[in-house]
Amino acid sequence: MKAVLIVCLVLILAKVLTQLWLEGLNRRHVLAHGKELPQAFKGLMDEAAYAESVQYTLANGRLRQIELVYNAAVLAAVLLSGVLPWGLHWFRQTLGGAAWSMAALLFATGLVLSLSGLPLDWYDQFRLEERFGFNTTTPRLWWLDRLKGLGLGLGLGYPLLWLVLKLVEWIGSGWWLWAWGALLGFELLLAVLAPVLILPLFNKFAPLPEGSLRQRLLALAERTRFRARSIQVMDGSKRSRHSNAFFTGFGSYRKVVLFDTLIQQLAEPELEAVLAHEIGHFKKKHIPKTLAAAALGSLAGFYVVSVLSRQAGFYRAFGFEPGNIVPALLLFGLLSGVATFWLSPVAHWWSRRYEYQADAFAAQVMREPGPLIGALRKLNEKNLSNLTPHPLYSGFYYSHPTLLERERALGGGGKYEL
Ligand SMILES: [Zn+2]
Repeated sequence: MKAVLIVCLVLILAKVLTQLWLEGLNRRHVLAHGKELPQAFKGLMDEAAYAESVQYTLANGRLRQIELVYNAAVLAAVLLSGVLPWGLHWFRQTLGGAAWSMAALLFATGLVLSLSGLPLDWYDQFRLEERFGFNTTTPRLWWLDRLKGLGLGLGLGYPLLWLVLKLVEWIGSGWWLWAWGALLGFELLLAVLAPVLILPLFNKFAPLPEGSLRQRLLALAERTRFRARSIQVMDGSKRSRHSNAFFTGFGSYRKVVLFDTLIQQLAEPELEAVLAHEIGHFKKKHIPKTLAAAALGSLAGFYVVSVLSRQAGFYRAFGFEPGNIVPALLLFGLLSGVATFWLSPVAHWWSRRYEYQADAFAAQVMREPGPLIGALRKLNEKNLSNLTPHPLYSGFYYSHPTLLERERALGGGGKYEL
């Protein structure tokens, strides 16, 4: 029994110590390059913008370090204090052991854990982001967003938990395959509902007005045989000055969404290049491939839960009685991150490969890399991105290559050594 707990604690510690080590490594690397504008960025941005990005990176890193220690402490406390078996007992005594009550326990555990993260989320938005001029959210909007998120969790997440528990009752040992099927169906439903019901809860969408930009983007869609129902502008500036672009919907319902902040920051050929990059992801089938990989991951996850639920020693180590699926779901939800963390460099390496492919596609359909390079430079500057991450740090965490890596791959002809 003790051995199980020790292994879990070692895994939690190994993860948080590795993360803290990576933060320290990155911090020293950024500081070493932070005294003056590196040669590679001369002529690309001014000293002041670079210095600001260094300060933003350092401040973010500090907050991350606090967050890592805090989250690891909360996780260890939840696992070792006996609060989980106590909660299970309380729910059984008060509400009974039916699926709806046990689903409520799982939901409540997730809710309490996300509440524990609120103070640091608040600090991030209203202190850190505010200090660097990114925050445009009001406290009222911030709380409203969280309430809406809770409502969505109750309306969509809770029924899914209930269904998984019911599948265990109905099917027995093969439940995990059915639960996986239910999750896939649920995700498909979400993908259909998101553009019409969920996203409009948080933002306003309006068609891109008639004009030269709209004509240019529609011509690009035509040239690349990309079918889209409309091009929409989203009021991202309501929350933050960070910018983005994405697609929603399927087939002929597909919509291209541009943040209003992106339109303010980029020139028309640069916006065209950003859309060309997004179309590149689509043409190279990155989206279904990523979804398929995620589906395999969740299949493995459900299988692991079904195996854990049969390990009496594992249950007793955390103070649970064997014979019920709920503790396995709880413990898996809390602990899976300490194992999957070690897979994140592979997942991110894969994601960076896709970014290079989408960049190459954009350069090809634009017939030159210039507009995309221009867009990437501006976006990195406006978002105060870390331009000099430690290679191990970006290898672990970055879903996108750095600006210099992308320019080098696009053959922009600059000087790419720091
Ligand atoms: Zn991309």
